[in-house]
Amino acid sequence: MTAEEGTPTIRLLDPSEAMKIAAGEVVERPASVVKELVENSLDAGAARVQVEVGTDRRQVTRITVTDDGSGMNRADARLALLPHATSKIRALSDLEQTLSLGFRGEALASIAAVSQVTLVTRCRAAGGCATGTRVLARGGEILEVEDAGAPPGTSVTVEDLFYNTPARQKFLKSLQTELAQLAGAIEALAISHPSVAFRFVVDGRERLDTHRGPGLLEAVRAVYGDEVAGNLIRVFLAHPLVAISGFISPPSLSWKTPSRVLVSINGRPVFSRQILRAIRGGYGTLLPSHTFPVAFLDLRINPARVDVNVHPTKRVVRVGGEQEILAVIGEAVRGSLAGKDLMPSVAGKEGARAARAGIPLPAPVIPAPDPAIPGGSPVARESSPAGARLTDMRLRQTELPTGVEGEESRVPELEVLGQVAGTYILARTPADDLVLVDQHAAHERVLYDQVTGRRDARPVSQELLVPVLLRESPREAAVLRELAPLLAERGFLVEEFGRDTFLVRAIPSVLGRPEDATGVQDLLGDIISGEVETPAEARELISRSIACKGAVKAGIVMTREQCERLLAQLRRTKSPWTCPHGRPTMVSFSRTALDALFKRM
Ligand code: ADP
Ligand code: MG
Repeated sequence: MTAEEGTPTIRLLDPSEAMKIAAGEVVERPASVVKELVENSLDAGAARVQVEVGTDRRQVTRITVTDDGSGMNRADARLALLPHATSKIRALSDLEQTLSLGFRGEALASIAAVSQVTLVTRCRAAGGCATGTRVLARGGEILEVEDAGAPPGTSVTVEDLFYNTPARQKFLKSLQTELAQLAGAIEALAISHPSVAFRFVVDGRERLDTHRGPGLLEAVRAVYGDEVAGNLIRVFLAHPLVAISGFISPPSLSWKTPSRVLVSINGRPVFSRQILRAIRGGYGTLLPSHTFPVAFLDLRINPARVDVNVHPTKRVVRVGGEQEILAVIGEAVRGSLAGKDLMPSVAGKEGARAARAGIPLPAPVIPAPDPAIPGGSPVARESSPAGARLTDMRLRQTELPTGVEGEESRVPELEVLGQVAGTYILARTPADDLVLVDQHAAHERVLYDQVTGRRDARPVSQELLVPVLLRESPREAAVLRELAPLLAERGFLVEEFGRDTFLVRAIPSVLGRPEDATGVQDLLGDIISGEVETPAEARELISRSIACKGAVKAGIVMTREQCERLLAQLRRTKSPWTCPHGRPTMVSFSRTALDALFKRM
């Protein structure tokens, strides 16, 4: 051997190793296994799909997906677990069509490469299989193939997931998080296939059964409950480029995250920021910023236009003629809402007409001015005796000691001069600086300091006379279960009350008397839908949410005395300058700044 030849530093992976690496792209976690297996069941024409998950209370140990689809004969059952085995591409001419639906013949092989798979199947075809077949594979190797008694259809059991890829195993999150992901995947599949009956069982307990009745609404009812299902607005639009059908929510059911926007293209769940934006765009000014509607939409697009192989999990797709299709989606949403008379009527009709004609929409519609308020300012509300009492009560709750009791505050003394727009307190410092204080942000800060300041003490909570009932989807319920101990630390007593239903028995005292159940439901809804990774982040989110809900709102007229109390409380906080979300609580105009504004210098 010459010196130039040397010893190679590049090494060819053996096929099983290569397969393990490839598997990593498709099989990230238990939820992706379920998604691939269920999609195969749907491809096989199943009318019923059951997902059974077993856990050892620390992680998912077993996943079984059973269907009543076409099943396989022995030859196919053996092939199904091998790389690049697919029945969905017969000839090269099929390739374009089938690839676009996402068949690549690698899901089962990828799963089998990193786990133990037991496949039991019997084909349904007339005169087909007298008996079933059982195939056992581990680490990508087929260990056994034998006869097995089985009903027509297929059952795939996956155990010891990632047993031979410890690095990947380490990336798994807590059991509750994995179960929540799993439930989310099943919810999306169930909603995009309403004619199929889905059943989801965890450790023998049924979490979801969509077999109440046919149709998307029934599937929605099973997953999200009656309130959502009962208030949806139908969307239907047939356009040469795309046929859109499904449901969207009225703005009142809007949600803090896009988790309830489920879109499928040709029956396959997809995730697309552009589609999400188009849907939100259809709502125009009806949706508060940072909120999302509930929407379940299926788009039928010529498969030749859809490229699902952009990403191995097929959740991200590329669509030809995307911009036009997005415009049609926005118009479908807008049109459905306009028909429901939820939009201010002038904008509704004009908007829809403009969209059809391809005219850019005019600036956002501002609601008609309230004639009761001179000058039409819609900001200041509620100076009624009841309103004043509520504000008093909220401020009393925060009269308790906070952070820097006794210490000198870094905020100067503030003399209240008045209130602007029911939102900003106008004040003066001893040095004659002018200070504007955002009353909501200020009170949020006070509450937040109070909530987080008493880590040692027991949370002060108050029992509700009438417990508040929460109906959650399986995914949300899983999150709530995980958060329950953290919520308890802050004074919430949440008990499980039947499947995916919870009772809130007590809430933090700082929230004062809750005005209504919706307030509590909203608050917990915000917390559940927040994106948090660690318990510390969850605690932070809970504290912020409590502070936000309990704080005096903007647009509430306050008495001078109430303004003074709030400023005194703010001065005692540890970090009075911003609210917990980082917005400023106050802005000051120094004497010199005022002079400069008036060109006195
Ligand atoms: P793909 O779905 O991309 O073809 P998979 O690895 O997911 O690849 O599946 C390989 C093949 O195994 C499929 O093409 C199908 O013929 C067969 N198969 C897998 N799951 C099922 C099932 N539940 N019922 C019937 N056939 C199945
Ligand atoms: Mg497949």
